[in-house]
Amino acid sequence: MARDKYSKGDDLVKKEQGTIVKDWGGRLPIALIYPNTYYIGMSNLGLQSLYRLLNSYDDVACERIFYEEGMVYSLENLYEVYEFPVLAFTVSYELDYFNVVSLLKQSGVPLYEKDRDNNHPIVIAGGPCIISNPVPLSPFIDCMCIGEAEALIHLLLNVLKDRGLSRDEKLEALAKLPGMYVPRYYNGGKISRQYPKSLHDVPASSAVLTSETELGDLYLIEVERGCGWGCRFCMVGSAFSPIRFHSAENIIEQAKKGLEYRKRIGLVGPVVSDHPQIEEIIGAIREMGAGISISSMRIKPLYESVLKAIVESGAQTITLAPEAGSQRLRSVINKRIDEVDIMNAVDKAAEYPIKILKLYFMIGLPSESDGDIEEIVSLVNKCRDILNAKRVGCRIDINIAPFIPKAGTPFQWMPMADEKTLNRRLSFLKRKLAPLGVRVKNESVAWSHVQGVLSRGDSRIAGLLAAVEKVSLAEWRQKAKELDIDLEHYTVKPWDTGIHLPWDFIDSGASKEKLIDECKRAASL
Ligand code: SF4
Repeated sequence: MARDKYSKGDDLVKKEQGTIVKDWGGRLPIALIYPNTYYIGMSNLGLQSLYRLLNSYDDVACERIFYEEGMVYSLENLYEVYEFPVLAFTVSYELDYFNVVSLLKQSGVPLYEKDRDNNHPIVIAGGPCIISNPVPLSPFIDCMCIGEAEALIHLLLNVLKDRGLSRDEKLEALAKLPGMYVPRYYNGGKISRQYPKSLHDVPASSAVLTSETELGDLYLIEVERGCGWGCRFCMVGSAFSPIRFHSAENIIEQAKKGLEYRKRIGLVGPVVSDHPQIEEIIGAIREMGAGISISSMRIKPLYESVLKAIVESGAQTITLAPEAGSQRLRSVINKRIDEVDIMNAVDKAAEYPIKILKLYFMIGLPSESDGDIEEIVSLVNKCRDILNAKRVGCRIDINIAPFIPKAGTPFQWMPMADEKTLNRRLSFLKRKLAPLGVRVKNESVAWSHVQGVLSRGDSRIAGLLAAVEKVSLAEWRQKAKELDIDLEHYTVKPWDTGIHLPWDFIDSGASKEKLIDECKRAASL
């Protein structure tokens, strides 16, 4: 029997717990769109929290839409994209920009905001990429949210729900709100990033549980936002500062609730082990009989109790991020750990019966030389010696990602390494490490370059995104050529700190002088 158009979505919803289905009568329907698959999106705590937050308003009916073949309709009530008066994209990765554009093209909603009228939905976008640099997507979006949802949503909804306003009047009103970038009504001023001062009233945890997602066996709870370590390549510091923590009581309370659905709790945050009461939290969750997984921990400090809890909870992999092989390069990126710290962490990890030690490195970092790459090999070798000495039978996997300059960070002016250099360094690492039994995984060099273009993109890149019909590297390069866009300008060319940046109108909270100072300090090492 032929399956109908909606059977894929129906099947997924049947496996969910926590789906919120509301009648549209008298309510404002909002399509919350994750521009990637259901499997990826449903493990995104930002999407989950937003779904709960929007649906906490009785007069709002928020439904999810994913970018998935054969399933681009809302899961709750099976509406098409164009039937919603409001579309809200949450964008976490630059490469998902292609999906935002493609979804709009397929949906019957005009791609460019300038072509929309009263018959069309208001298209909103938010998320880490939008906060840092909204420019490459701005011609396609009516209103971009510069900041965290909890600080923006109330005023935003008041305008959207106002039946006395026309579509255009709504956009005009939105443009006057703090943290809103409305390209049609932009007056040239700075847009300040908005965020809640405290996380006390904004607990964030899984809203809809399903096994059909990457982290499907976990109940996710946010532990913190922001990060105070100041790695110069990292966007967390600029897009989510200052660091704020959820209270231990709140986290423990949510874990209790989570246990009704899952046996394991996933603690989420940029550096979960930074929570001042992390040991207390982990102890309390373990006492409830729950397993624990944490999304990230630093090499220093590394708490034994945290390690013990995650291994006892069944983790067979410990992940650490030295990021660079040499001490000089770790200082350049401001990682604030040295080789002794790394060896101590491996030594501690080797006390436990883990199967895999996973190490994250970046290549193509500013000022990197072949010698720095050789030091990755020697560092991995030293880690292996420690594991061998303890006879733990643990394998080492390394993950390699090319450095990509991110808007709003001290490295926003720094160039990427060219593709040839990155590929050569990658091959060297594979050649040297494979015989040691080390598995090397890497991000695609070519796609990292595309990501680099989108990350430092301007309005010309919006035109390129719109021109790409079928997403492929060949098409991307061909369309860039047709549009006379020099892709290398956005990737391998260094930018002078004095130039005007496309995202200069975003006030993230960090002064440009401080970013320049950090960038120059790195360059002097
Ligand atoms: S890389 Fe990690 S530790 Fe460094 S600033 Fe980013 S989140 Fe913090």
